[in-house]
Amino acid sequence: MDLNFTTAEEEFRLKIRRFLEENLPKSGLGAGREGREDKAWLEKSKAWQRKLYESGYVALAWPKEYGGQALDPVCQTIVNDEMVRANAPYLPGGSGLGMLGPTLISWGTEEQKRRYLPKILTGEEIWCQGYSEPGSGSDLASLRTRAEIIGDEFVVNGQKVWTSGAQHADMMFCLVRTDPDAPKHRGISYILIDMHSPGITVRPLVQMTGDKGFNEVFFDNVHVPRKNLVGKLNEGWIVANATLFHERNMLGSATGSEQRFNRLLALTKKIKRGGRALTEDAVFRQRLADLEIRVEAMRFHSLRQLTDQIRGRNPGVETMINKLVGTELNHDLATAAMEAMGDYSMLAREDASVLDHGYWPYEWMFSLGLVIGGGTSHIQKNIIAERGLKMPKSR
Ligand SMILES: Cc1cc2nc3c(=O)[nH]c(=O)nc-3n(C[C@H](O)[C@H](O)[C@H](O)COP(=O)(O)OP(=O)(O)OC[C@H]3O[C@@H](n4cnc5c(N)ncnc54)[C@H](O)[C@@H]3O)c2cc1C
Repeated sequence: MDLNFTTAEEEFRLKIRRFLEENLPKSGLGAGREGREDKAWLEKSKAWQRKLYESGYVALAWPKEYGGQALDPVCQTIVNDEMVRANAPYLPGGSGLGMLGPTLISWGTEEQKRRYLPKILTGEEIWCQGYSEPGSGSDLASLRTRAEIIGDEFVVNGQKVWTSGAQHADMMFCLVRTDPDAPKHRGISYILIDMHSPGITVRPLVQMTGDKGFNEVFFDNVHVPRKNLVGKLNEGWIVANATLFHERNMLGSATGSEQRFNRLLALTKKIKRGGRALTEDAVFRQRLADLEIRVEAMRFHSLRQLTDQIRGRNPGVETMINKLVGTELNHDLATAAMEAMGDYSMLAREDASVLDHGYWPYEWMFSLGLVIGGGTSHIQKNIIAERGLKMPKSR
């Protein structure tokens, strides 16, 4: 087993690292996850995505005919790692790049690929995911948003909820019920909806972080061309799962966890308990050791996934493991930081005595959301048990 990157790959890493040092937006965008709600942020981060794309660092493995470079998946992994290490701002087109784009490459018509993929790459069109509905989250197949076929169009009525980024989105990839009489997994279709269509209302929901990151979306007789169907009519469940696969992979990043662990370590070296640094405290050291072991296990897990990708092996439950372990680990890292800070963890970011620039309270709240979004931990465990361990189905 050789876990080292080749010389050419290491040179590529240095190139992207230098690019980020020289080009990372210096101010106004914020690093990491916060502040993704105002229009000024959107415009600046779209410009950032465009620059990254034009410099050759977005979706490197996508086919050339749709604007990609058809490079080895290792190159994309290196870019992702370096972006996390540099604390680069999140890309506004993340849902398009990470979820819809790869789905369309496998399932879209030629016309859909040529129409949508290039604008996903440049960030010109922002996408959101219309899956969840009130009463249909974990049990997604029970969704009720109805699309009737009238002539050459679908006419959509119903409601989605928890739709991240819908307030900025130009387009939505959406699950709708097209055959209400079929068994629940069979009467669903996967369609692409223009968010500027008449009949769409977007209402923001405020998260516990204070961000207006996700929304309710209402459809009142929204007309969608039939050519916006992805996959076959009433067989959208299989396309929906392809997207979920990409989403779950996106949510757990080993490099991100490693970065957070290093930040936690630096914080706890500065915090004193009983006259000594917390890192000298026998009980807390055990906790840090446990977290570091989990971070390291994530790193090996992601290398295994990368090997599968390079060798063209179909992934099994690895993506669910990635999502389950990665999101829980990030929340546990933040919980350890909050407990280490004690009363200081209650301070607002602006307070003069706040520790580590107020990073952890936000991270603690945000990371809890990711344990739920994209399918809760319980659901990932059910799938791993049923598909991976071949255990009987849960009732
Ligand atoms: C930050 C964030 C962003 C999101 N973004 C989007 C988005 O952009 N688009 C979108 O469509 N949705 C989005 N969601 C919604 C997300 O997909 C759902 O919240 C999630 O699937 C859970 O559904 P629910 O909230 O309806 O909870 P429920 O399904 O009601 O679950 C409630 C509880 O019951 C448990 N449970 C349910 N069924 C089972 C079972 N069979 N076995 C064991 N336990 C079970 C769950 O684990 C959970 O603890 C987002 C959610 C969050 C938190």
